[in-house]
Amino acid sequence: MIRKFSREWKASRTPRPAIWAHVPDEQWHDWRWQLSRRLNTLEELQQLIRLTPEEVEGIAARRFRLDITPYFASLIDPDDPLCPVRQQVIPKGRELAAFTAMTVDALAEDAHSPVPGLVHRYPDRVLMMVTTHCASYCRYCTRSRLVGDLHATFSPQDYDAQIEYIRRTPQVRDVLLSGGDPLTLSLRVLEDLLARLRDIPHVEVIRIGTRVPVFLPMRIDDALLQMIRRYHPVWINIHVNHPREITPELCAACESMADAGIPLGNQSVLLAGINDSVHIQRQLVHELVQMRVRPYYLYQCDLVPGAGHFRTPVSKGIEIIEGLRGHTSGFAVPQYTIDVPGGGGKVPVGPNYLLAQSPGRVVLRNFEGYIATYTEPLDYDPTRIQHLEAQVTRRPEPGQEGLLSLLEGDRIAIKPQGFDALHRRGRTSEHRLSANADKWQPYGIGEAANDREGNGADEISSGKKPTSDRQQDTSNE
Ligand code: SF4
Repeated sequence: MIRKFSREWKASRTPRPAIWAHVPDEQWHDWRWQLSRRLNTLEELQQLIRLTPEEVEGIAARRFRLDITPYFASLIDPDDPLCPVRQQVIPKGRELAAFTAMTVDALAEDAHSPVPGLVHRYPDRVLMMVTTHCASYCRYCTRSRLVGDLHATFSPQDYDAQIEYIRRTPQVRDVLLSGGDPLTLSLRVLEDLLARLRDIPHVEVIRIGTRVPVFLPMRIDDALLQMIRRYHPVWINIHVNHPREITPELCAACESMADAGIPLGNQSVLLAGINDSVHIQRQLVHELVQMRVRPYYLYQCDLVPGAGHFRTPVSKGIEIIEGLRGHTSGFAVPQYTIDVPGGGGKVPVGPNYLLAQSPGRVVLRNFEGYIATYTEPLDYDPTRIQHLEAQVTRRPEPGQEGLLSLLEGDRIAIKPQGFDALHRRGRTSEHRLSANADKWQPYGIGEAANDREGNGADEISSGKKPTSDRQQDTSNE
């Protein structure tokens, strides 16, 4: 169904199931009432949904917290076990099954935490987990090791340690508040966090990752938005996986956030049997952009307990991007991303558009299969920018320069852990004829590259510290 959000549709309300027909409007639209009436028992769910034996098994197992707001439950088709809303929040027996490569902390977040709840994975940004609560709980949750345990939530002392770490780490310019769901915090606690972060001079951008607009859109009220406006720039990423979650209520919440000057993005997860379809994804992104929400990431499902049956082959994600790129507006195409196991971080994945290359020419194909060459300049001078480049402050990325350090001539290689030891193969001393470590120093790489415009010959004979030594210091070992 193609929906264009008319004024009438936006003014309408999601129909309420009979069990809540008697609830006065002011209660139904009160987020506190919604939170206090969440469904979490077999008996409550059976009043609303015709549960399958496998769902009964999943609910009884209590592997991961179960809570569903009445609002979100009202989007469930009670007679369709394959309903995309229902599959995201109603447990199934199969979520108990272990699978190859399943890992409790698949992204090794805890290994990248200098203080509890703060993950510093990338050079200039951190993730700050501020609560273990959510408005409802997704069965594929990456953080099910923490989320849903209301007794293990983060304390004021944890917040102090997180903020102190950010304060003494000037390379951090972007802080993502996550959890759990930060918008389940009280206004007072959330404002205190935003104010303290905004007080740190090097924090430029604050982001909030939240599924509250989807599970509990009535929480996006004037008080919340007026408070957030005081701490701009604040960006918000919501989490919608299927067009069935897009309702007049969610639309109103997104419009009021956008009107409050909050740039909005959407992070969805590719879920088997829910949104692993080019056509569903196309409808989803078209409806998101109508709400002024830019599709940001489409994540490959992580290898965490409970998520085994939600996973798709990576080729399905690539097929979906093939069906979006060129077929719709560029800003409506999310970045398909795998958060690689073991803490490698987000890796963008997609179709190959560059088919071949030679000096002076690249061969490209477009979304229709049209193949053409792009002719490159033969007189390109990469040093012409150096004058302007010298006027820009370079941000240091200690130890995380990655491939860029190879391209910029700071290093000649990045070595896997144990590389040098392996290739010494037990050697304890150098041969008397080859003890000179300078023989491994590549000319013009690393420190020497800074003098590229100077007298290279003098440098070679000057006995400068060999670059290879420095590379040993900064290699990946
Ligand atoms: S809202 Fe986010 S943190 Fe909460 S259960 Fe869902 S995926 Fe996990």
